Amino acid sequence: MTDARYIQVILPLKLEWVPYYRIPDSISAVVEAGDKVRVNFSGREYIGVVRNLAERLPEDLPASKVRPIKSVETALARVRKEEIELWQQIADYYMCTVGEVFKTACPAQTFNREEIEARKKERLKARVERLRESLEKARASKRVKESTRERLEAELAIQQAKLEEKKKGSVDTGIVLNSAQNEAIAGVRSAFKAKKVALLHGVTGSGKTEIYSKLAAEALAKGRNVLYLVPEIALSRQLEERLETFFGEDLLVFHSHETQARRGQVATTVAGSTNYIVLGTRSAIFLPHHDLGLVIVDEEHDSSYKQDSPAPRYNGRDVAIMLAKSQGADVILGSATPSLEALFNCQAGRFSEISLNEKYHGGEPVEVELIDTRAERKKRGMHGSFSRKLIQHISETLEEGAQVLILRSRRSYSPAVQCTECGDIPKCPRCNVSLSLHKTASNDRLVCHHCGYSVKFDGSCQKCGGSMEGLGAGTQKIEEEAAALFPAARIVRLDSDVAKNPKEEARVVKEFAEGRTDILIGTQMVSKGFDFEKLKLVAVMQADSMLAVQDFRADERAVQLLEQVRGRCARRGGKGLFVIQTSKPEHPVYTRFTEDSRGFEENLLSERKDFGYPPFYRLIYINVRDTYADKADRMAAALNAAVQMALGRRMENGSAGVMGPYVPAKEIEDGRHTRTIRVSLARSKDLAAAKAGLRKAVIAFEIQNRYDGHITIDVDPV
Ligand code: ADP
Ligand code: ZN
Repeated sequence: MTDARYIQVILPLKLEWVPYYRIPDSISAVVEAGDKVRVNFSGREYIGVVRNLAERLPEDLPASKVRPIKSVETALARVRKEEIELWQQIADYYMCTVGEVFKTACPAQTFNREEIEARKKERLKARVERLRESLEKARASKRVKESTRERLEAELAIQQAKLEEKKKGSVDTGIVLNSAQNEAIAGVRSAFKAKKVALLHGVTGSGKTEIYSKLAAEALAKGRNVLYLVPEIALSRQLEERLETFFGEDLLVFHSHETQARRGQVATTVAGSTNYIVLGTRSAIFLPHHDLGLVIVDEEHDSSYKQDSPAPRYNGRDVAIMLAKSQGADVILGSATPSLEALFNCQAGRFSEISLNEKYHGGEPVEVELIDTRAERKKRGMHGSFSRKLIQHISETLEEGAQVLILRSRRSYSPAVQCTECGDIPKCPRCNVSLSLHKTASNDRLVCHHCGYSVKFDGSCQKCGGSMEGLGAGTQKIEEEAAALFPAARIVRLDSDVAKNPKEEARVVKEFAEGRTDILIGTQMVSKGFDFEKLKLVAVMQADSMLAVQDFRADERAVQLLEQVRGRCARRGGKGLFVIQTSKPEHPVYTRFTEDSRGFEENLLSERKDFGYPPFYRLIYINVRDTYADKADRMAAALNAAVQMALGRRMENGSAGVMGPYVPAKEIEDGRHTRTIRVSLARSKDLAAAKAGLRKAVIAFEIQNRYDGHITIDVDPV
């Protein structure tokens, strides 16, 4: 080892530089990159990671200014070099500091049981070796008693079995694929061979999970480890059980809702295991992975992969690909509705698309019916929110003894209320968005879905005393209407109001799954993951509200949601019907379900190209947040000028565009007003340089204006 006395230490902070420290003579331990050390910084104590040893200090840093570290934390897990490199890569890509990534990666310092675990295994191996030797000797020697030899033999058998046990369970899962799946897996393997990311584009129920599992088993059999990412763990109970039967003890489950202790435990096991498969949400990326052979990203299009706050504002799918690259692992992304980004990457030859169009359990494709609510209304065919046609379908389904799922993407009784006299629409005093009407057994309230603000509602206008009426129907009202239309049906609702109580949520799902209820009404919560045996009819009410949002991805998201919820229908074969009630049945988002879908995606892609959106351009949002709206305006305008200056040459040659500042849909967050500057950068070789320049300009602006803590940068926003 070198006897460097200086080190650079990564601290869990938003620091633009990596501070130097000195190792005092009182510390005799050898310090290496990756070690954790305890240091003082700005009057506080932190645990940091040694990024590197430094032979000498930079010229402008006098030795007298460099402080000693307090201790080397040998009991804490070390960080491998590749991990630190990955952190740096993430920091560069997402325009944040390596300290912020470190903070996300190691939210708490857990003591290192990993070495204990690893040592245990080493000891076991050594013991088997020793036993074998003793036995060899005993066999060779005539003087050793028969009983001793037998004892040794028995002992060796036991220890060997223990060691074997640690290795097995990973080779044969007993999964037998059907021919469509076999064809798909062959496609995946050739993508891997060509060093490409495999995109498994498979309809819901086609058996993607079995394909992932088979590939995972193969990786494990080769002595490599596996990371299996899902967008949300809450939906993966069924999955967890299935994987458990395949992988037994090798399966580790990890997500951000786990207790700190449990997280530490999993990290420890990962570090010390030779055979593991982690099933987890995006935070599982930051476990101390090693020898990864396969990374699976299920539902790759899901926006839950994106971390909004704090920095790094990363997309788990994209960082998973970085991680896989750094370890030489294969990557498979799966989805029934791949993101445009993924499809674009396929077109560009970076990914390879493998289609799986058959449902595993067969059956005819689900029939799709678009119901034009405007036309129905003219014919007096609407009963409140329900069209006569839909009522007919529901009645028939219930008569057959099958179940119905109704999706309405707004919770509440009414998404807004309005005075019939003066026309006033009450808004949240904090957020300036319309308040939704919620009814409970005890009283009615107007609630802000953004910040939770709520106020009692007596049906009269605060401005003029006139009477108020609800605008539109949310899940609560639809439930009420359904109860009146189908008095014999057992109806339940699932939205985030119900799910506030996890037990209640679990009960609703369980009872519907067991066929003890007939109609389930809910928000997007009902769209994912569930496998309801008797569900034959899925209906979407007021589908157009999905399109009326301020988001360039609105159409893409709407299609994904519709596809997901259609996928709940008739999963075990048989006839299924998918109904969409809309006042714009000619909209491409809907006709995509009745006509060829490829054209739809092609069109979306060309629209994105024309308007300077991803995947053709990299989007970066620079957000300014301030308690005072006028200050937010002023600072955002000044920052906008600085950003334009920094991108000057690029703006001239058309490789960069700056828009804004504008007020985003969610204007107020935690009492602070947000202004957004939207930067789009052409994908090119010097993209990294453009981002670095942009970041530098933002930091300089913060310093110049003493405006730290008000500006955030969001790369690839979703
Ligand atoms: P997806 O993830 O593509 O929506 P799933 O993996 O959930 O589809 O598969 C749908 C159903 O088909 C599940 O009930 C699953 O158990 C079953 N299935 C899929 N492939 C197989 C297989 N090879 N052997 C047995 N059952 C399978
Ligand atoms: Zn509010």
